[in-house]
Amino acid sequence: MGEEEKRKKRVMVTFDVDGTLIKSTGSSSNRLHRQAFSHAFYHVFGLKDVSIDAIQVASERLPDLKARMIEYAKEHAQNIGEGLEVLPGVSSLLDALSSKGVAIELIKIAANRANKLYPDGFDLRVHVGDTPNDIRAAENGGALAIGVCTGVFTAEELQKASNGNAVILPDLTNAEAFLKLLGI
Ligand SMILES: [Mg+2]
Repeated sequence: MGEEEKRKKRVMVTFDVDGTLIKSTGSSSNRLHRQAFSHAFYHVFGLKDVSIDAIQVASERLPDLKARMIEYAKEHAQNIGEGLEVLPGVSSLLDALSSKGVAIELIKIAANRANKLYPDGFDLRVHVGDTPNDIRAAENGGALAIGVCTGVFTAEELQKASNGNAVILPDLTNAEAFLKLLGI
């Protein structure tokens, strides 16, 4: 066996979060996020009970809103799981990927940050997400796109966003099939 064959395949998988790893659920659905938004909007604009849609007209104050939202989320970190549910198969898939030494990132990291964290680069980069934008972002960034139908989009809609190379899965419950896709 040559040196090249013995070297472990370097794989990085980035995951979208909402609709891919977790989903909002129940009457307190996405509660911390909504409360953090209200907190931020009140502190930046002095307005109460504002819908998150207001963010579209407040774009120039986004950095301030973001800082206030992070402040709120940190203060209430113990409530982070409220109204959120981990999607089926996610925990075991993440365990399986870790045990194979796969680099896992929760969001797409900027190329220069990735280069600093993993200077040797990757043989394969994969992005997993539940929306057509995830598919397009993966493929534009030179990664293999894996679409999951645990958000609001169908397999056909995800496939349509692809240049033809995306793999669409119903969900993340089959860790073995996932590892096979990565060739590890
Ligand atoms: Mg999503």
